[in-house]
Amino acid sequence: MDPKNFTVAVHGGAEIEPVTGAVMTPIFQTSTFAQKAPGEHAGYDYSRGGNPTRTAHEAALAAIEGAKWGLAFASGLGAEQAIVQTLDPGAEVLVCDDVYGGTGRLFRKLWAKYGLTFHFVDMNNDAEVEKVLSPRIKMIWVETPTNPTMKVIDIAKMAEKAKKVGAILVVDNTFSSPFFQHPLKWGADIVVHSTTKYIGGHSDLIGGAVMTNKQELYEQIKFIQFAAGCVPSPFESFLLLRSIKTLAVRMIHHERNAIAVAEFLEHHPKVKSVYYPGLKSHPQHILAKKQMSGFSGMLSFDLRGTYEDVIKFLPKLKIFCLAESLGGVESLVNHPERMTHASVPPELRKKLGIGPTLLRLSVGIESMDDLIEDLNQAL
Ligand SMILES: *Cc1c(COP(=O)(O)O)cnc(C)c1O
Repeated sequence: MDPKNFTVAVHGGAEIEPVTGAVMTPIFQTSTFAQKAPGEHAGYDYSRGGNPTRTAHEAALAAIEGAKWGLAFASGLGAEQAIVQTLDPGAEVLVCDDVYGGTGRLFRKLWAKYGLTFHFVDMNNDAEVEKVLSPRIKMIWVETPTNPTMKVIDIAKMAEKAKKVGAILVVDNTFSSPFFQHPLKWGADIVVHSTTKYIGGHSDLIGGAVMTNKQELYEQIKFIQFAAGCVPSPFESFLLLRSIKTLAVRMIHHERNAIAVAEFLEHHPKVKSVYYPGLKSHPQHILAKKQMSGFSGMLSFDLRGTYEDVIKFLPKLKIFCLAESLGGVESLVNHPERMTHASVPPELRKKLGIGPTLLRLSVGIESMDDLIEDLNQAL
């Protein structure tokens, strides 16, 4: 979605309901659909395979990502699971080393025992990537910006590497949202989202999405969606349709507030470092400016001092709520080492810079001055 194009957010996937003329897609809360004769129906037979509310939701997902097809899942990890299930036994996957904790857990603890091999590498280190890149690699899995250290990975460059070995490039676009980044444009084959985050935007549902322009991948993943059944309910689809309409306005405010918070923290004496791709001091700021049209609302920072200082700081916050997750209209703070990234092996956490003083903020859409004042008084 072009950030200037609010029309796609508001109208993507929307069609007037043909029977009643309802302007908003109704919640088709039904598991089954009457058939005129065996096998003769109006396009829907059973809601695991398809439901009109989900169809509208999936069309909206495709529209905002500028993709031909969108598929909705019951969670982000459910969407990821379906993507992994397209692989044949024995396949090897190249994964960026600071993927979302749950993605790492899905790969290490669940899929590794089914004969798939996952190589976790620093994708900003060309030598590390080239060392494992081979025709055995069937999928390259990128998350950018990464979580929680906000590294930016060059999607176009990884697309070239994927092409070279005949692998599929998957990009987890959750942190940027389709408003600020279009991985398909840079050569990705599949985009995956946890719609729980920015696309949902209100911290009131769990959902996932897959978008692609490749028909073969679409058909494969659609079959898995139907056969394995990890589908969202009509109500969740309705909520997501509603959320997508305000994605553009929300993202603009998330970003505006995050830039202000990042700049405030960068100049605060009690803050050691700030990790936000929108700051000139960010090591991949230029790349971020090239492949993203904005920097979103996620940032991390290291407090000066020790874990004891973090423990004193957190309860003083009045607006930022200590909680996992991100992308909702309300501001959240998270301690990655003990919360979202507790399942990451300790030696990898150390390599990634996830230490006791690291805090991650999901900057909400409250008044900018209130957010800065909240951080200021707590610091
Ligand atoms: C939350 C998240 C996921 C997993 O999504 P769920 O909806 O929680 O299953 C995947 N990737 C990223 C980047 C996330 O933030």
